[in-house]
Amino acid sequence: MDFSLNEQEKMLQNLAKDFAEKQVAPRAAEIDRTGEFPLDLVEEMGKRGFRGLPYPVEYGGGGAGYVGFILTLEQICRASMTVGAIVSVNTVSEEGIFRFGNEEQKKRLLTPLAKGELLGGIGFTEPDTGSDPRMVKTVARRSGKGWVINGQKIFMSMASLLDLVLLFARREDADDLNAFIVESKSKGFAVQEVLETMGLRGLGASIVNLDDVYVPQGNLIGKEGQGFDILLDAISVERMSVAVQAVGVAQAALDLSIDYAKQRQAQGRPIARMQAIQQPLAEMASRIEAARWLVYRTAFLRDQGQDIQYESSMAKLFASQVAVEVTRLAMQIHGAYGTMKSLPVERLYRDAKMTEIYVGISEVHRSIIANKLLR
Ligand SMILES: Cc1cc2nc3c(=O)[nH]c(=O)nc-3n(C[C@H](O)[C@H](O)[C@H](O)COP(=O)(O)OP(=O)(O)OC[C@H]3O[C@@H](n4cnc5c(N)ncnc54)[C@H](O)[C@@H]3O)c2cc1C
Repeated sequence: MDFSLNEQEKMLQNLAKDFAEKQVAPRAAEIDRTGEFPLDLVEEMGKRGFRGLPYPVEYGGGGAGYVGFILTLEQICRASMTVGAIVSVNTVSEEGIFRFGNEEQKKRLLTPLAKGELLGGIGFTEPDTGSDPRMVKTVARRSGKGWVINGQKIFMSMASLLDLVLLFARREDADDLNAFIVESKSKGFAVQEVLETMGLRGLGASIVNLDDVYVPQGNLIGKEGQGFDILLDAISVERMSVAVQAVGVAQAALDLSIDYAKQRQAQGRPIARMQAIQQPLAEMASRIEAARWLVYRTAFLRDQGQDIQYESSMAKLFASQVAVEVTRLAMQIHGAYGTMKSLPVERLYRDAKMTEIYVGISEVHRSIIANKLLR
C-alpha cells in the first residue's frame, strides 16, 4: 500500500488550493447570499483545466485521473461547495460520454466539455421521483432519424446555463431508459423555474420542461435501453465527488473551529484549553480523515478502471454523515456566533446537509451497500 501522492498530484492540489483561497473563498458568502451562479469562476476553472481533469488529453481533458480530480475538488469545496458542485455536475455528463459514447461523440461532445468550452449537466430527477427509475415519466418517441422527448425534469442543476444535458427518458415502445445528450438550445427545452434551496445556493437547481424536443440519433449515448446502466455508472463518479464535497466542507468547519477556539476566551483562558472543546475537535479531525481516505481510495479504484458503484455509495454515505456531524459540532463550538449569517459556519452547516440528499439519498446508498453484502 502506498498512500503518498505523486508530484503531479501534489502540484495539482497546490494549484487548486491557491485558486480556492484567492479566487473562490472571497466570493463564497456572496454566492450563497445572492444564489447567483458564479459564471466568471466557472469560466476561469475551464481555462485552468479543472473541468475535464480525469479525461485523456486527446479528448481535451487534463489526464490527471480521478485522484487528481478529487484532490482538486476537495480544495475548491473547502472554499465553496457550490463552486465545487458545478465541476462535479459537469463531470457526470463527461463521464457518461467517455464511458459509453462512440469515438465521434467523444470528439464532438466530450472534448469541448473537458476543455471548458461547454457546460454539461444531468437530467434524471422528475417531480415524482429522484430515486426510482421505474417512475420516470419523460418519454422518448422515435421520429425520423432521431427521437422526440416529452416530459419534465426537476432539480436540474445549472439548467439556465447548461449547453448539454445527459438526459434520461423512457422509451415509448419498451420498458427501459435511453440516455441522450440533449442540447439546451433545442426547440422545446425550457427552464420553467430556478428553485430556492437551503444549501448549495447558486447551483441553480431548476424545473425544466421538455416539449417535443428533437434529439438526433447521433446523440443517443450507448445502446438503446442501456440508460439505467449508464446512469448507475456515470453517477458513481458524481457520488464520489459529492463525498469529497462533504470532506471539503467538513475540513473548512474544522479549520474555522480551531481558529475560533484559540481566540475565544471563557473563564480567563481560550476555550481551546477546555476538554469540552478539545474532545469534539479530535472527534471531527478523526472522522474527516477516515472519510477522506475512503474517497481517495474510491478514486484510486476508478483510476484502475474499476466499477465503483459500491465504493462510491459507501464513500458518499459515510462522508455526508461526517459533514453533517462535523458542521453541527462546529456550530456548537462557535456558540451564538455560529448562527450568524455574517460568518461562514452556518453556510457550511446548510451545505453539509445537502450532501446527504442530492445525488442519491442516504437510504438509497444503504440499500445499494446492503444488496451487495447480501448478494
Ligand atoms: C441542489 C440539488 C441539485 C440537484 N441536481 C440534480 C441534477 O442536476 N440532476 C438530477 O437529475 N437531479 C438533481 N437533484 C435531485 C436529487 O439527486 C434527488 O432529489 C435525490 O436523488 C433524492 O430524490 P428525491 O428527492 O426524489 O427523493 P425520493 O426518491 O422521493 O425519496 C424520498 C424519501 O423516500 C425514501 N426512499 C426512496 N427510495 C428509497 C429506497 N430505494 N430505499 C430506501 N428509502 C428510499 C428516502 O428515505 C427518502 O428520504 C438535485 C437535488 C438538489 C437538492
